Amino acid sequence: MTTTHISRRRAGLSPLFLAGGYVALAIAPLLLAVFAETPVDPWTEAASALGMVAAVMLLLQLVSSGRFEFLSGRVGIDITMAFHKWMARLLVVLVVAHPLFFVLPIDLSRPYSTWNHVVALLTAPANAAGLVTLVLVLLMVPLGMLRDRLPVTHEFWRATHGVMAIVAAVAVLLHLLHVGIYAESLALRVYWIGLALGALALAIGVYTVRLRQMQRQDWAVVARRKRADRLWEISLKSASGRTLDHQAGQFAWIAFAPRRFPLFDHPFSIASPPNAEGEVRFLIQEAGDFTRGLGGLEIGTPAALDGPHGSFTLEDRQCGAIVLIAGGVGLAPILSMLADLARRGETRPVRFVYAARDAAALADPALFVPHLEALGARSTILLDRGPLGPNQRQGPITREHLAEALEGLDPRDTAVMICGPGGMMSAVCQGVTGLGVPPAHIRYERFDYRQGPSTAKDRQVIRNFRLLAMVIGLAVLGFAFR
Ligand SMILES: Cc1cc2nc3c(=O)[nH]c(=O)nc-3n(C[C@H](O)[C@H](O)[C@H](O)COP(=O)(O)OP(=O)(O)OC[C@H]3O[C@@H](n4cnc5c(N)ncnc54)[C@H](O)[C@@H]3O)c2cc1C
Repeated sequence: MTTTHISRRRAGLSPLFLAGGYVALAIAPLLLAVFAETPVDPWTEAASALGMVAAVMLLLQLVSSGRFEFLSGRVGIDITMAFHKWMARLLVVLVVAHPLFFVLPIDLSRPYSTWNHVVALLTAPANAAGLVTLVLVLLMVPLGMLRDRLPVTHEFWRATHGVMAIVAAVAVLLHLLHVGIYAESLALRVYWIGLALGALALAIGVYTVRLRQMQRQDWAVVARRKRADRLWEISLKSASGRTLDHQAGQFAWIAFAPRRFPLFDHPFSIASPPNAEGEVRFLIQEAGDFTRGLGGLEIGTPAALDGPHGSFTLEDRQCGAIVLIAGGVGLAPILSMLADLARRGETRPVRFVYAARDAAALADPALFVPHLEALGARSTILLDRGPLGPNQRQGPITREHLAEALEGLDPRDTAVMICGPGGMMSAVCQGVTGLGVPPAHIRYERFDYRQGPSTAKDRQVIRNFRLLAMVIGLAVLGFAFR
């Protein structure tokens, strides 16, 4: 069987390197502190260690926001955002534990003295920067978790989250440099200043450098077509003939004039294949303020594009067959893959499963049928509701549909790419795993960061985060009892 592969190197560090780097950065201050002072009692040492680890984690939150392709490009936006959210919760535990450990163990005969001690610690003028950090973390994390229930726009939430994160990073640096047993250590001071400046430069740079880049770009809207109910295909082209060197399945952040600013950009999968005559197309479902305005977008509107990003691609899939599964607007990256495979004359068997809510929500078949025909690909089109047309089946996707899609293929040698609503993706993931596709051959992309871990693969990822936290926890214990 012949396979056509373009082996382009994707930006980003390997997951193992990132995990190792994270642990190394988290425990480096503990190692430096070991040489700085002789230990006092284990509770105080544990409190210091928790504070130092929390400080590193807080600073690294600035760079785990998914915007740094050179760091997380290979890991992908899904895992990066899951990591950001998981570590944020752990950070809450650590910043609360840090002052409490200073008053442990509790003297049960005088509980009020413990309480008074906590209050004295938190209100001491010297600890003001530490208190600011604590309050900001306790605000940022719950507000991030509740952001879709808050009566504010996504942009407002994003701006306040960013400002609070930067203020918290500055406050924690001041706290580290001025308070505590290890504040006088020169090695630690150099470490904290280096880490904080690095993280702040990257976080602020995302907005300042990109602001200039976005204003200078010459992308503009060249076409806007309705492809289904509340589903728009938007095509962009650069006046200077600039192209986007993307891989099928990747996404870009886009913004339109008059709001061509980093704060107002939104992520969308690129629905066109690479090298589509300089035109970059997006398939966008109306969801809220930004996407609802796209139907009225004028031809010629200047646009800004930041990308390509993401690792939801077929580039490194060496399997003998490919199954592409899309639900709703999840069709966008799958369409890019389908077109790319057809254009490259793919000879491996390709299967396509596409489920839509009803006939009105089904994207124009002209978008995918020519590619299916070119590939000789077998397809299954499903509608959840309403009357079915010719060659359409009753949805939602079931195990039987998946078994049909895999019929005649070796599941152990098949790549399965899934994009759609969270519930559909976890059901499909579970379904194809049950049919013998190894988890390593299944890849999916979420359009909504709100959706928590739902697949076996997600749970494996969370187990890896826990392992990482445990290694750091052991380092804290070792430091406290040294
Ligand atoms: C990697 C990725 C690829 C995506 N590809 C597509 C696609 O091809 N087609 C498509 O229609 N949709 C896609 N989305 C979803 C799309 O980004 C959101 O629907 C859109 O940003 C909603 O903005 P809004 O203001 O219209 O809606 P809102 O009502 O403001 O938001 C709806 C939800 O979208 C999310 N969201 C809003 N703004 C942003 C933002 N700036 N960054 C991240 N999330 C945001 C929030 O969870 C929010 O609850 C993708 C999302 C991601 C993460």
